[in-house]
Amino acid sequence: MPESVSAAIEAFAALPGIGSRSAERLTFRLLTDQNNLAVRLSSALTEMKNNVKECDQCCFLTDENTCEICMDTRRDTTKLCIVESPLDVLALERTHEFRGRYHVLHGVISPLRKVRPEDIRLTELYAHIEQLPDLNEVILGLGGSTESEATALYIMEQLRGRFSGHVTRLARGIPSGSELDFLDAGTLGRAMTERREW
Ligand SMILES: [Zn+2]
Repeated sequence: MPESVSAAIEAFAALPGIGSRSAERLTFRLLTDQNNLAVRLSSALTEMKNNVKECDQCCFLTDENTCEICMDTRRDTTKLCIVESPLDVLALERTHEFRGRYHVLHGVISPLRKVRPEDIRLTELYAHIEQLPDLNEVILGLGGSTESEATALYIMEQLRGRFSGHVTRLARGIPSGSELDFLDAGTLGRAMTERREW
């Protein structure tokens, strides 16, 4: 096998969810493709690596200094939703339910994986909060893992003295379309304890 082909297979196999067989199939698909897919992919990836950086306010991805969301004057600057990853911003934007600002942490605190508070974008978070004089609600939009919960608690403590408005978090609910007896006990238990007025 030519070395470049092996290298491509190896790179694909390093991606999450792609095993060695899929890596081989993807590589040969690119190798035999008539539409220059390999060249387009390679230039898109190079361009992405060279130009994409973190927004100087919210740490979302951008190829300018400030991202489109932070630049958008129609966004509600009284609300800030803290999330773990840029993908969470995309997921929340797809719901069309939130028109405020985001702050992307790029991870959660994890003693086990040696991720310390200074390894995620907390300094940037405090600076972002200071830049929003009308801010009255910080929403902790973190996931449901133990590490995410611990990170949310840590942030709540750190916000004392820095922010005097409401601190809320996403409701843990029942996924739409699912039956109660299919839910794990943790999800169902939370749905019960965090129930709200009809
Ligand atoms: Zn931004």
